[in-house]
Amino acid sequence: MAAVSTNFQPTPGLKTPRFAGIPSFMRLPILELDSPESSSVDIAITGVPFDGGTSNRPGPRHGPRQLRDLSTMIRTTHPTSGVNPFSLVNCADMGDAPVNPMDLMESLDLITDFYRRISDANITPMVAGGDHLISYPVLRALGRDKPLGMVHFDAHTDMNDAYFGGSKYTHGTMFRRAIEEGYLDPKRVVQIGIRGVQYKSSDFDWALDQGVRIIQIEEFFERGVKSVMQEARDIVGSEETYVTFDIDAIDPAFAPGTGTPEIGGMNTFQAQQLVRELEGLNLVGADLVEVSPPFDPSGGTAWVGVSIMFELLCVLATACDRRKSVISG
Ligand code: MN
Ligand code: MN
Repeated sequence: MAAVSTNFQPTPGLKTPRFAGIPSFMRLPILELDSPESSSVDIAITGVPFDGGTSNRPGPRHGPRQLRDLSTMIRTTHPTSGVNPFSLVNCADMGDAPVNPMDLMESLDLITDFYRRISDANITPMVAGGDHLISYPVLRALGRDKPLGMVHFDAHTDMNDAYFGGSKYTHGTMFRRAIEEGYLDPKRVVQIGIRGVQYKSSDFDWALDQGVRIIQIEEFFERGVKSVMQEARDIVGSEETYVTFDIDAIDPAFAPGTGTPEIGGMNTFQAQQLVRELEGLNLVGADLVEVSPPFDPSGGTAWVGVSIMFELLCVLATACDRRKSVISG
């Protein structure tokens, strides 16, 4: 295990009450990407306050702020694995990616550049959206040299071609773009939780033709977490893999604060169990997207979101720690 700096510990909840102070992700120190200390960071928790990719009900631009607020309720140690990500690797809140809410294509460039700089600094990103389009610029940064594998939890495949005529960059099309542009290896992409009324019966054809594995919710409920995740692990293998979690994978009974809810989804415990089965994979980044505070001002959906972010952070931290151990011999 590599040394962990005491500078990167969350403010202890038994010392300063969780409701006090300025909210940062998981109560971690806030660091600028250019600051000298940032060279010691292993995992950057970051926000992307952008929802220009939503095709229907906007709102996830407000996600990072509400997720930061609710994340102050997260403690440090995983209840079943015992992993404390903050004692394994150096984690910090590295702020929000720059965006221009008036310009989608410019925002994609700004977000790509932000995650390129994070990647160049050898930092693993944990990302809080934003609508699901924000995964695309992150993949553009992380998958620029070699296409990545991806485990994708969602009610939707997000592999449509275009919306409203020729709009190619939306939260329902970005994984098609990421495959076409070579940031994802479609044969190492698995989608879990897919459901909902389709545009047409051929909606899945393009992805299936590329070799993407689509596990619809019926198959998930029939086979269960272990069986489905064993297959997912076999599909992505030991090569570099990204994880993306759309909050609408979870049933709207538990997570109503999202733009395109679909009934008949997994519950929150199943979502936790699914993410836990990612342990041991070569994970190079993760995101949690589509939390839309205007549709759940209570913060309940954001609480589900940050709880999943903590699960993701634990499996990212062990992956990051393994990579560091290999480098340091
Ligand atoms: Mn979705
Ligand atoms: Mn999605």
